[in-house]
Amino acid sequence: MAIHDDICRAIDRFKDKASGLGRQVHAHPELKFEEHFAAGLLACALGEIGVEVERGVGGLETAFRAETGRSDKSDKPGPTIAILAEYDALPNGHSCGHNLICTAALSAFAGLAAIRDQLPGRIVILGTPAEEGGGGKIIMLENGVLKGVDAAMMAHPIDGEFATFPALATHYLRITFHGQAAHASAAPWAGASALSAVIQTFQSVDTARLHFRDGSRIHGIITNGGQAVNIIPEKTECEFLCRAYTTKYAREIADRVLRCADAAATATGTTLSHDVVGGYKNMINNLAMAHRYARHCEELGVEAPDAPLDMPTGSTDMGDVSHAVPAIHPVFRIADPGAGNCHEERFEKHTDTPRAYEAMIRVAKAMALTAYDLLADTALMESAKGEYARRQES
Ligand SMILES: [Zn+2]
Repeated sequence: MAIHDDICRAIDRFKDKASGLGRQVHAHPELKFEEHFAAGLLACALGEIGVEVERGVGGLETAFRAETGRSDKSDKPGPTIAILAEYDALPNGHSCGHNLICTAALSAFAGLAAIRDQLPGRIVILGTPAEEGGGGKIIMLENGVLKGVDAAMMAHPIDGEFATFPALATHYLRITFHGQAAHASAAPWAGASALSAVIQTFQSVDTARLHFRDGSRIHGIITNGGQAVNIIPEKTECEFLCRAYTTKYAREIADRVLRCADAAATATGTTLSHDVVGGYKNMINNLAMAHRYARHCEELGVEAPDAPLDMPTGSTDMGDVSHAVPAIHPVFRIADPGAGNCHEERFEKHTDTPRAYEAMIRVAKAMALTAYDLLADTALMESAKGEYARRQES
């Protein structure tokens, strides 16, 4: 299709600019909610494309929004597709490659903005902060930033290539034990150890693992193990992240963890309190969208099959977006298989290479073409929406 070629050519013209931005974001890693440099840089690049950028949307200082295509006020505004950009880093830098996520989104947007007068709808780019543990997209969803959006997409670099991504739901618990302090040598009988309660909780959770369904993950850390070696610990704290294929099952696992903690408190004569720190929903991959994306990848010379259900995976706040609108979160290869997992220090160097920026541009094209098709091909949009509705019911 001629218009597809126009979009791809515009993205090719944007390649040097996008790669330069990716390198700059990579060189200035910023933690969740602190992405001022990246948000400023990306907003400035959007301004150069000739669109108006709204900063600080959804109550988040480092979030932004811009759009191109038909205006709201048009007689036939058509559908709206959102392309999401992440740009937060981890304490070990851009070891998750979000510098490639934001530049892929920006390049896709630039390609579509180049043919803005011919778009049968609207394309929105959303700068979404704090994917790494902050749930930025959840906050933006709650604040209505995705209102009016018909479908959403983003793409994430890994060491493989898939059109879908089976991200797990999470339930994040913090448990505090309250014991009785006493001199650990002179009067241990007068104390109740909050540390013993934490240790027993971990042991009980490990015993319970056998009974959890395949694909579940439970991992915890002790964030406060006591106050002094010669005092029976009065207060301790631990955190657990419970993950599963569904939000419902992640919650069931969390309930079991709490029962383990309750039993430990009874056994040690302590009490406990807990809070839910947060949680992400599982990713519902919209197959109508994913398969169109895969078709464009194939045209661009790369196979992007559906991910195997048992592939090693993590979690993302894009999961919450996929429960709100039809959505995809394809993953793309920037390194050979086994080159390291996201979040590992050795993966960080793969997120800033010519190969990574090549892949980012290819993925930007596949996303832009998919977004264009969703606007132009009514049957595709209907099938994406129908599938979304069916999977919400089930
Ligand atoms: Zn990531």
